[in-house]
Amino acid sequence: MKGDLNTPNQPDALDHIPLYDHHAHALFHEDLWRAAPIGGYFTEAYDPLILERFVQDTLFYRRSLRDLAELYGCDPHHEAVQAARLSRDYPQLCAELFRRANIGHLLIDDGFSPERLWSVTQSQARLPLPVRRVVRIETELQGLLPLHDSATALLDALEVQLREAGNTAAAFKSIIAYRTGLDLGHPSEAELERSFQRARANGGKLTEKHLLDAALWRGLRIAAELKLPVQFHTGYGDPDLDLRLANPLHLRGVIETPDLRELKVVLLHCYPFVREAGYLASVYGGVYLDLGLTIPYTSVAAMRASLQEALHLSPVTKLLISTDAQRTPELYWLAARWARRTIGTVMRQTVQDGDLSAAEAEWASERLLWSNAAELYAARY
Ligand SMILES: [Zn+2]
Repeated sequence: MKGDLNTPNQPDALDHIPLYDHHAHALFHEDLWRAAPIGGYFTEAYDPLILERFVQDTLFYRRSLRDLAELYGCDPHHEAVQAARLSRDYPQLCAELFRRANIGHLLIDDGFSPERLWSVTQSQARLPLPVRRVVRIETELQGLLPLHDSATALLDALEVQLREAGNTAAAFKSIIAYRTGLDLGHPSEAELERSFQRARANGGKLTEKHLLDAALWRGLRIAAELKLPVQFHTGYGDPDLDLRLANPLHLRGVIETPDLRELKVVLLHCYPFVREAGYLASVYGGVYLDLGLTIPYTSVAAMRASLQEALHLSPVTKLLISTDAQRTPELYWLAARWARRTIGTVMRQTVQDGDLSAAEAEWASERLLWSNAAELYAARY
């Protein structure tokens, strides 16, 4: 059978299993894609010193350049890869790489850089697979902020908007880890109103903890009612976040809330808190974890270790894989390639260790790539 996990050194053994990519962003509009330097795709940094001097020295970059050279049939050098990719027809390349990555379903969080990326509707029209939207709660809140003159009116408007969006969306998502951290408080009405007034006065990016916390509680209750999963960015990401406040253990307050017991909470990325996330998934029925971004943004050893660490405690049926790719189609392909390779290697080890039988390892590979997400985000309409 294709995909025999007992066959060592067979890097693409899981190619036949499609990936349900439950967390990604959209692709660049073509002019931006053609203008963008390639190095920016391989780091979460925006420090110019990292982008100009150091990004090409990461293991992720070095490995990916060879992968892309193999993809394009060119020399594994920056200039050759850049010339090869820019010689391609962009819409065709996008569709081709989704096919080659064998991604079968795509959920797009369109709250990131919406003016520079394809919309969900454009993605659906241009890509050869079903695409659904994930609604970023903080982006909805930010858009409504200038239109209302009290915290109460703002949160009521947010509720209306989330209920409407929730009718067709696959999930809600929170990036509160990037703003004020995952340890949600319960502000008083007076604190909330003052927080709202400061947010209105300051303008710009919303960083008012009381207001963000109150809005998220509202969003979580709506999600629980609509039976929509809520994705939380946790762990590693760009330096907008304070990694100390992005540890998923801070979400205990949410997970332990009695009227949110039915809520499905998906911990995205998790690195370096993979073991903590696996622990939460092992003791709370509603908690799931994901290794997108951790795969492929780290070394091969770290991808392997992260998957193994997630499986220290997490049930196989609560572990998800995503690409968290954005902007360029190569990132979806690279993420899917390394997800399958990492799963293949780790599953062979679980068989050698006696944790799983060969048949169970095949079942687990399919669960991780497809069925866990397909069941969690099953359309409710
Ligand atoms: Zn993301």
